[in-house]
Amino acid sequence: MTDIPPIKAGALLSIDLDALCDNWRSLRARLAAGADCAAVVKADAYGLGADRVAPALYRAGCRDFFVAHVNEGIALRPVLPADAAIHVLHGPHPGDERECVRHRLVPVLNSLPQVQAWQGLARDLDAMLPAILQVDTGMARLGLAFDEFEHLTASPDGLQGIALKFLMSHLVSAEAQDCAVNGLQLERFQAARARLPGVRGSLANSSGIFLGDAYHFDLVRPGAALYGVAPVAGQPNPLRPVIRLQGKVLQTRRIAAGTAVGYSHTWTAARPSRIATVAVGYADGYLRSLSNAGVARCDGISLPLVGNISMDTLIVDITDLPEGRIGEGDLLDLADPLNGVDAIAARAGTIGYEILTSLGQRYARRYIGGGEG
Ligand SMILES: *Cc1c(COP(=O)(O)O)cnc(C)c1O
Repeated sequence: MTDIPPIKAGALLSIDLDALCDNWRSLRARLAAGADCAAVVKADAYGLGADRVAPALYRAGCRDFFVAHVNEGIALRPVLPADAAIHVLHGPHPGDERECVRHRLVPVLNSLPQVQAWQGLARDLDAMLPAILQVDTGMARLGLAFDEFEHLTASPDGLQGIALKFLMSHLVSAEAQDCAVNGLQLERFQAARARLPGVRGSLANSSGIFLGDAYHFDLVRPGAALYGVAPVAGQPNPLRPVIRLQGKVLQTRRIAAGTAVGYSHTWTAARPSRIATVAVGYADGYLRSLSNAGVARCDGISLPLVGNISMDTLIVDITDLPEGRIGEGDLLDLADPLNGVDAIAARAGTIGYEILTSLGQRYARRYIGGGEG
């Protein structure tokens, strides 16, 4: 661990931008001919830092970016070159339309009021305004209901003023490859596209890419897979891990068999043990549900987290390490390639997405690679 810079924080989060860019390239390489690969960088690039992630992906060749909120798009605009398109999944809230134009954000229009407001601004500005139109094909979350979409596209001037970049929808269960909803959504999306001939289509998230060429259309929108989350349930992950989290040891102690540990004494040593207190807790997004369930790692050995995770600390049973191997100031791996976001999520009873987006703001962060000049 000699490559570790000294940190004053409780942990070091390393973010491998080279692995991230490799993941983007390998997803792109899977696409049907003619399809482009965007990058979803909402929620601060799933917690990894949109201001570093998006420019690295731009340098790798990505030109289409998606955020959730208008303010995320406004923050992203200055860190990306002018030819990068920034799309806002939620579209503008009423009154934010001009902000979108000012910052050259392309909204996803999800409802008839959003369509009408965008058209109203186009009239005011006497311009065609770019947008993506979302039609709901099964999620029942965002996008026009199918009958609204039919009604809108039935009249010739239904989309007047809008330079439609893509017709878009979103998959419900793409990570479950044999789920019947996938095929149903594909059929509905194809039916929707038939009503807007010549308009490009965008359906697939990360997992949707792995459903095959039929799902790729003109633009795919991976997020999680870029950051190393496994895209297909029950199959080996073809993507590279992007994060490593190393927590700093505050103290070690010897305890006798029968000693109980931490809040509420949820763990009791069955043998004479050595334990280490690490400066990472649930306030850092290291979820409390990992209490007595998570593992730390050192020298290839898995070490159980024992007792309840506290706000700022957790406790690791280091008895299986040689005496003296770990002391104050040393680092234990809390997320590494062999204990990655999906493995941690499984132990915590959640999904890799939530592990990533919970990553703490208190960690020292180190970015590796990314092709910066
Ligand atoms: C978040 C999101 C994505 C990215 O999904 P992943 O599963 O992370 O690849 C794509 N499209 C929409 C509409 C989203 O909300």
